[in-house]
Amino acid sequence: MRPAKVLHKAEIAKCPKGGEGWQLCAGGCTFAPMKAVKLDILAIAVHPDDVELGCSGTLLMEKQNGKRTGVVDLTRGELGTRGTPELRAEEAARAAAILGLDVRENLGMADGFFRNDEAHQRRLIRAIRKYRPEIVLGNALDDRHPDHGRAGHLITESCFLSGLRKVATEDEEGRPQEHWRPKYVFHFIQDRYAHPTFVYDITPVFEAKLQSIRAYSSQFFSTEYSENEPQTYISTPEFLNAIIGRHQMFGKMIGVPYAEGFITEKVIGVRDFDAFVQMDT
Ligand SMILES: [Zn+2]
Repeated sequence: MRPAKVLHKAEIAKCPKGGEGWQLCAGGCTFAPMKAVKLDILAIAVHPDDVELGCSGTLLMEKQNGKRTGVVDLTRGELGTRGTPELRAEEAARAAAILGLDVRENLGMADGFFRNDEAHQRRLIRAIRKYRPEIVLGNALDDRHPDHGRAGHLITESCFLSGLRKVATEDEEGRPQEHWRPKYVFHFIQDRYAHPTFVYDITPVFEAKLQSIRAYSSQFFSTEYSENEPQTYISTPEFLNAIIGRHQMFGKMIGVPYAEGFITEKVIGVRDFDAFVQMDT
């Protein structure tokens, strides 16, 4: 088993900042900038790999559009049947490089046992205020894994509370943080089917999305992962086929090969119909 520190040093070489000003996060496993960084899009999810499954295509598309993107993982996925937290951290860093993320930070909450309570909300609010994203992509509000739904609600409530100036938080150096509320929180549809509010055409980056999922070779079907580990719900070839089928189904709704689906509780405001996919469907 490789210690987290060696992993981090290995990742620094690949980090977009060339290692300048980056440090080990509290969870000791991924790269996070010491200074606050303003992001356009921040994806927040409970398990490393949720983002890759749910919204990595959208992150890749937004990156291509010149946006600054990042991921905050709430836990290290330490209850996963296969692999180890160290291996999953390595996989998350590999996926981050594929997605070209500006930031990937792990908050080190307890997989399975984190709560949507004040203590956890304050930890997440600190991260939201550190990165000041315009848009947050988060876990679904209801899904097969109960962690996903609980995280979805934690994310929604923390984004709202983060906008209240009387909720006081401090940064890593003990300085008071400015309040910040993301303009939108979009919940990505991951495992259980839900009818999307909108779908995002990810056709140009679909292969890269699959690569980011395959970076988690301990979790999903991979010919490279030969250890004698038990099969799980997500480790069979059928699971990956179902993921591809889901994206094709969302794509078909708007007349493109592949799309990701999102649910928003807040009404989306539009200024320009030209941003819409306008296919004959
Ligand atoms: Zn998950």
